[in-house]
Amino acid sequence: MTFKVPMKIARIILGLSLDKAFDYLIPLELESQVHTGIQVYIPFGKSQRRGYVVGVKDDSAYPVEKLKKIDSVCEVHPKIPENLLNLGKWISEYYCCSQEQAVRALLPSAVRSGKIKRKNIKLYYLVSPDEAQKYIFEKGKKHPAQVKILQMLLQHPGTSYEFMKRETGAGRGVITALLKEKLILEENKEVYRDPFAGAEFVQSCAPDLTEEQKEAVSKINGMMSSKSPKPHTLLLYGVTGSGKTEVYLQAIKTALSLEKDSIVLVPEISLTPQTIERFRSRFGDMVSVLHSSLSDGERFDEWTRIHRGQVKIVVGARSALFAPFNKLGLIIVDEEHENSYKQDEAPRYHARDVAVMRGLMEKAVVILGSATPSFESYNNAISGKYAMMILSKRVDHCVMPKIRIVDMHVEALKSEGKIFSGELVNEIRNRLDRAEQTIIFLNRKGFATKMVCQKCGFVAMCSECSVTYTYSRKRESLSCHLCGAVIPAHKSCPDCKDEKIRYSGIGTEKIESICAGLFPHAGIARMDSDTMTYKNSYEKVLREFRKGKIDILIGTQMIAKGLDFPNVTLVGIINADLSLHIPDFRAEERTFQLLTQVAGRSGRGDVPGEVLVQTYTPQNIAIQCSRTNDFPKFYNEQMAVRKTLNFPPCSHLTAVHFRGPDESQVAKFADEFLDKLRPSINSGIKIGGPIPSPVSKVKSKFRYLIIFRGERMKGFREALREQILHTKRTKDIEVYADVDAVNMM
Ligand code: ADP
Ligand code: ZN
Repeated sequence: MTFKVPMKIARIILGLSLDKAFDYLIPLELESQVHTGIQVYIPFGKSQRRGYVVGVKDDSAYPVEKLKKIDSVCEVHPKIPENLLNLGKWISEYYCCSQEQAVRALLPSAVRSGKIKRKNIKLYYLVSPDEAQKYIFEKGKKHPAQVKILQMLLQHPGTSYEFMKRETGAGRGVITALLKEKLILEENKEVYRDPFAGAEFVQSCAPDLTEEQKEAVSKINGMMSSKSPKPHTLLLYGVTGSGKTEVYLQAIKTALSLEKDSIVLVPEISLTPQTIERFRSRFGDMVSVLHSSLSDGERFDEWTRIHRGQVKIVVGARSALFAPFNKLGLIIVDEEHENSYKQDEAPRYHARDVAVMRGLMEKAVVILGSATPSFESYNNAISGKYAMMILSKRVDHCVMPKIRIVDMHVEALKSEGKIFSGELVNEIRNRLDRAEQTIIFLNRKGFATKMVCQKCGFVAMCSECSVTYTYSRKRESLSCHLCGAVIPAHKSCPDCKDEKIRYSGIGTEKIESICAGLFPHAGIARMDSDTMTYKNSYEKVLREFRKGKIDILIGTQMIAKGLDFPNVTLVGIINADLSLHIPDFRAEERTFQLLTQVAGRSGRGDVPGEVLVQTYTPQNIAIQCSRTNDFPKFYNEQMAVRKTLNFPPCSHLTAVHFRGPDESQVAKFADEFLDKLRPSINSGIKIGGPIPSPVSKVKSKFRYLIIFRGERMKGFREALREQILHTKRTKDIEVYADVDAVNMM
């Protein structure tokens, strides 16, 4: 039964854990102001709360006389555009989180809080030029400072005080005097805080496209000129250096010509000044950049500029996907295989997948670009769900680097415990002789990854987390990479007091010290999260590398992506096996991606590049296929395994995590949780667990995990969402779902 009322009714959500929407009456005097997406004040229990309106309708499932009225509208909070609100609803349902959590992801906190004010400056004008002339003529001799200001305003009406002061040296008093005499007036003008203030960009022109680029652009143009393109998503699979970015730029140009807006997503670590410059130098002021180092004020202004339609292109990391455009024509997801597109806090959405969804909802074309596509996207492309274009060659006839594999078992026989093979040392020496540059990659920082007592076997572990400490020799400290705890390194074993404490496992800090010993005259620098602690240290090292002041650059995955240095002709990978030994069905896929990306840093100039891959498992499929650059073969072989074991993309995978300070309670809670859920789990869904997570303790909280895999998961997800949002919690126990999880540690 529903109840008809003369007044309209708003559905309102509020509160973090509450998912329910409540019905409120809209008083007649507010009717014109209350729309979907705005925030309102409402009476709730004995207090007043703020909530989002998620819908307006004519009737209610509740008796009208029990409904309360909306108190007022929050003026300061911008409205969430309806298209984003719909996207938020989908996110909350698909990713099993509350609507409020999803809505939070849609608006930057600077916008949501309503605390940021628009920035105004005062500009000055003459009341009348004639009066000003008269004043100069009659009283000028006595008041030279006033004259300077008036003359300035005669030439430049609408000038700020700061400018006038800089040019004439006049103080506030002069302005006040002129205002009093009614010779000048002041006006407030709203201005934007500009993160690019002072930056100049040289206009760039489009180069002549290669044949492959041309084909890709024309395919994309075809999709964009269709009213509702089918499919609306295209995988741009192009080897490193094949000119994918140029294709993006051309696609954006097409969007502009159709008067449509574009969003470009790049992984946070690729959001460098070089990347931004490529877009700004082509499209200038039409580009807005959203990145994590914007101040709240700048973020607020950028959002406002986008919302008002004053920019046409947004470049940014994950959250830029929610740019409040309403004429969206194009979404580009660069490096679509990157795991950082998955948010690791609620809502745990995958920006690539949400991009495809937003594209579908708003009839925009989506381009997913990568040199190493995710299995998910490649699978969708070969099954026809996505279109695909391939860029198989590097531009400018640069050849792909030659990759050589060094079997470290053989090397180890030559001299025990070697970290650098003879071949790698020789090749680096050759580069130094020829004044070419080398990149050395090891995806682990620190000096050693383990501190072990040789006498009693003691291993230094973090007291809060179930992992070993990483040792830094420079700082003589031990640190935990999970919780960030740092303690002084032990001088002797804390257990048996023996002084034969040893370090094992290598990190980039150790590589740096070995390099310094091997090549005493070379310029060496290291780039990892230990050395890149200052805001501009990244830029500084890259500048010096570009200038040739650094011969050997050592780094973690920070240097694996995007760097384009023509003089780098050698890349050395110290231990290609590191990423193979993680307990994850995607370990091979990650290794393939990482090796291909790192190798792509070599030979981007005139001299062909070389890559040396040191490994203990030279026959591994990921290592072999990255050597021959054979993604299709790698994909086919791995897919056979995924099919047999029913892992994504042959199924959907959802992980449910449990955390708490008491291990047995966490385990018990997980068991009961699963029992309650069981009736909603169809027979096609496989259940793994509950089991302790691979990293079973972090920050003193124990972690359990259940993994669900199946092909049809919609009904299950609905039940799971209900249960997560509405189960009574035992105090201290946290439970959440990670739909399409990419990391199960
Ligand atoms: P990817 O993103 O595929 O790794 P980029 O877009 O960075 O490749 O292109 C590599 C380099 O080639 C860049 O310096 C770019 O400016 C240049 N480039 C791209 N397309 C062309 C072209 N058609 N003609 C000349 N240079 C190009
Ligand atoms: Zn820790």
